Parts: sequence; C-alpha cells; structure tokens
Amino acid sequence: KERTLAMIKPDGVSGNYTEEIKRIIVESSFSIVREMLTQLDNEKASAFYDEHSSRSFFPDLVTYMTSGPVLVMVLEKRDAVSDWRGLIGPTDAQKAKISHPHSIRALCGKDSQSNCVHGSDSTSSAEREIKFFFDDVLSG
Ligand code: ATP
Repeated sequence: KERTLAMIKPDGVSGNYTEEIKRIIVESSFSIVREMLTQLDNEKASAFYDEHSSRSFFPDLVTYMTSGPVLVMVLEKRDAVSDWRGLIGPTDAQKAKISHPHSIRALCGKDSQSNCVHGSDSTSSAEREIKFFFDDVLSG
C-alpha cells in the first residue's frame, strides 16, 4: 500500500465541502490514516510551496493558502498518489469542469488558483509532505 498527502484548501473548508470530499475519499477505497485541521501562516505556506517561490502567482498563492483553515489528511491505498491525483482532476478548476466533470476540483474549485484540494504529485513529494505535517508518521 502507498500513502499520499491530501489537503482540503481554505476555499474547500470554508465552502463546507469537507464532508462530501471525505465521502468521496472513503467510497474510492482510501483509508484516512491521519487528519488535522490547521491554519497555515506565511512561513509554513511558503515552505510548503517552495518549488513555486519564483513564480509570479506565488504571493497570491500564499495569501490564498493562509486565508483560512485547511484539512490535511494522509490517505492510504494501493497507488494512492496517482489515484488521488486522478480523483482531484486538473489544476485549473475551470478546465476541470469541462474535461473532468466528475473530479473534485470540478465539484468545488473555482479557477487555477482556488482549486479546493491538493494532492502530492509523486511518491517522493508524498513522503516530504507527510513529514512536513505529520513528523511522527512513517510515510512508507
Ligand atoms: P497542488 O500542488 O496544490 O496539488 P497542482 O500540483 O495541481 O496543485 P501546481 O502547479 O503544483 O498545481 O500549483 C500549485 C498551486 O498553485 C495550485 O494548486 C494553485 O492553487 C496555484 N496555482 C498554480 N498555477 C497557478 C496560476 N497560473 N495562477 C494562480 N495560481 C496558480
């Protein structure tokens, strides 16, 4: 079995999508191994998205990610990383509504920034991101 980091971003939490997303997670055969509702500050949001620090959208991204609480979860199943990425759909929620109408971003995202959920993009990112939030959990 594999683990991935899933996050319901501030727009998803404030838009009351948590229960529906968790229902989709469980119905899709993931186990929720850990979960934590937390508020990111500028330092933590910047560190989480460090790979995007030189992008023009980075300041807006940090403002968005610190705008309210997020729900971070460790999900487990076979092929968890790619299966969760598949469920959430493309980054741009506007495009997701057209190309992946049953995806989570089509359900609750708005555009290329406010896209409701996050998923690790590889097993190595999953390991890093799980450690980032749950220092005491083994990511293997
Ligand atoms: P995530 O890492 O959050 O799962 P992703 O892997 O689909 O998303 P990335 O390219 O890693 O997309 O971008 C990280 C986040 O930065 C996006 O989820 C989105 O919130 C924001 N973002 C990405 N591209 C843009 C953009 N062009 N304009 C504004 N915000 C953007």
